[in-house]
Amino acid sequence: MKTRSPLLAFNLHAVLLFTLALPGPSGRAAEPAGAPRVVNPGPPPSDAIVLFDGKNLDAWESEQGGPARWRIEDGAMVVVGGTGNIRTRRAFGDCQLHIEWATPEKIEGEGQGRGNSGVFLMGRYEVQILDSWQNPTYHNGQAGAVYGQAPPLVNASRPPGQWQTYDIIFRAPRRDGSGKVVRPATITVLHNGVLVQDHFEIRGSTYLERPQYEPHPDKLPLVLQDHGNPVRFRNIWIREL
Ligand code: MG
Repeated sequence: MKTRSPLLAFNLHAVLLFTLALPGPSGRAAEPAGAPRVVNPGPPPSDAIVLFDGKNLDAWESEQGGPARWRIEDGAMVVVGGTGNIRTRRAFGDCQLHIEWATPEKIEGEGQGRGNSGVFLMGRYEVQILDSWQNPTYHNGQAGAVYGQAPPLVNASRPPGQWQTYDIIFRAPRRDGSGKVVRPATITVLHNGVLVQDHFEIRGSTYLERPQYEPHPDKLPLVLQDHGNPVRFRNIWIREL
């Protein structure tokens, strides 16, 4: 009975490795099983859901129902005061969100009245948008704050009119079978690339006078706030985690 020579076994192994390293149909080398999924970083990343690319509001609707009534201008969507908050048609839980925004170049109002909007994860956990360039207000209400709960670690604001970015990593709260929150929501925020929230444990809905967790589904739409100021948005994409 023949036994396979060690040399042959080695060669088979080498052939296997060589085959794995050959480019697949996509032109990339095939990955061994269990390798991290390949994502083209873009931007936007190849596995992101684009929520706004400058062209239309198809991914959005009014929070009261019906079409979103904000306007599109020069590839940005602009809050039209009085038309109400807008929300995504899709619902999200754990996510990585990229959003660019700019407060009005012409300074009007002060404090909370100046360039106010907001990003509400799950429609209830707000990362404040505000013109916080030389515009004092309460600390947990300035740009980059988890509204009413956590001031930003630093004020990384750009002057009014300039584009700014938020990159947000959000984990939805987890509940046990009875609905009790067993792990609070957490949030990390980079403002213009600077860390302003470091895995902060959210204490509940931010629009309540006393934050507390309310029962809600595992996924909910992302909401952008109409606070009456013509804040602009562009390049919005989200990755479900
Ligand atoms: Mg706000």
